[in-house]
Amino acid sequence: MALLTLDAVILRSQHYRETSRIVTFYSREQGLIKGIAKGARGKRGRFSSTLEPMQRVRVTLSVRRNRELHTVTQADLLHPFARIREDLFRSTYAQAVLELVGRLMWQEHSSEDAYNLLLNILQAFEEGLGDPQLLFFVFHIHMAELLGYAVHLEGCAGCGGSLSEGGTFSFPRGNAFCGRCYPEEGAATSVSGTTVELIRHLGKTEGVAAAAALSPSREVRRQIGSLLQRHLEYHTETDLALRALRLAESLDSEYPSGNNSNPRELPYRHVKGVRK
Ligand SMILES: [Zn+2]
Repeated sequence: MALLTLDAVILRSQHYRETSRIVTFYSREQGLIKGIAKGARGKRGRFSSTLEPMQRVRVTLSVRRNRELHTVTQADLLHPFARIREDLFRSTYAQAVLELVGRLMWQEHSSEDAYNLLLNILQAFEEGLGDPQLLFFVFHIHMAELLGYAVHLEGCAGCGGSLSEGGTFSFPRGNAFCGRCYPEEGAATSVSGTTVELIRHLGKTEGVAAAAALSPSREVRRQIGSLLQRHLEYHTETDLALRALRLAESLDSEYPSGNNSNPRELPYRHVKGVRK
């Protein structure tokens, strides 16, 4: 048994039995790690408000080798990201970010870059720096890149020509071809010129700023979301139909204006990329 102190974001926190919680952390030092917090529930319970999802904590775990579940011995709040929860759309898409991390980073390997990316995107959500759905896409694109499955849309993968008229995106290759060059092999989908352009902007280091400046149509959003999801599903063989995204969709149809909370009215700030 060893004690490990980690800087971590809480991805999930589930009730367990009468008084405990099972908490999934994504940590800077150890990647994904699960702990049981005994006596964590109730107002007077230990860790009463510390172990809520989305919060950044410094947590100490008593770790046993070859166990999936370790014991939380101490948890201190570093940052609550409380303002994200004040807005339903923001919190739903931020939740989608957490869910994506939980599904993709299944190994306990740590990634400093992935952790920084997560913190930076939560910070952008908290400061209202962009349209929540576009912020989710920014995270998705950079996460794919970190995992080694970057999407390349600078030009046609065959002739290098412009994709402004759209083209065909190849999932195995992660790039797109114009109408003349597409080799007709492997899983693929057609993409519009606008979708190509937007993914390129959101994938730049200034992706967060792009998420604040752009306001694409619902159809383009649907195309972007579907392409990104299918691309990562193809490579990771992981189901990425996220619960939070289903919720976001139903919110969007109930409050259609909510998802488009006119980004231009948000305080526009140039953010130097989402990575440190
Ligand atoms: Zn071409």
